[in-house]
Amino acid sequence: MRTKREGDVVDITADVERAIAKSGVKVGIVCASVVGSTAALTTVEFEPGLVKDIGEAAERLFPKGIEYEHHMRWGDGNGHSHVRASFVGPSIALPVRDGKAVLGTWQQVVLIEFDNRARDRTVAVQIVGD
Ligand code: ZN
Repeated sequence: MRTKREGDVVDITADVERAIAKSGVKVGIVCASVVGSTAALTTVEFEPGLVKDIGEAAERLFPKGIEYEHHMRWGDGNGHSHVRASFVGPSIALPVRDGKAVLGTWQQVVLIEFDNRARDRTVAVQIVGD
């Protein structure tokens, strides 16, 4: 997928559910992982308020405007992106029951773009079970 900008939060629940359906697995585990060190996967109630809250929390915890060793070493200006992505984590594992990921009604699987520009992103999905 192509993300639009830093802070982009993309609902990938339907993609994960499609992968499970295609696998034929009814009971097991699904693991999804984003390739790269400046994006992350988690779950959230996917609504505009929380999307904004996540961005603001990331800024409070790991501000953009401070010095990062990564900036000084590589000059790519995205030290905060790497740190944010590392703290949220690249992957998520969910139980599969009745051929679906076990999620709450108001719980979606999302990719968060922490890099300081639009990126092409690949999410690897592995499903194990019966
Ligand atoms: Zn970098």
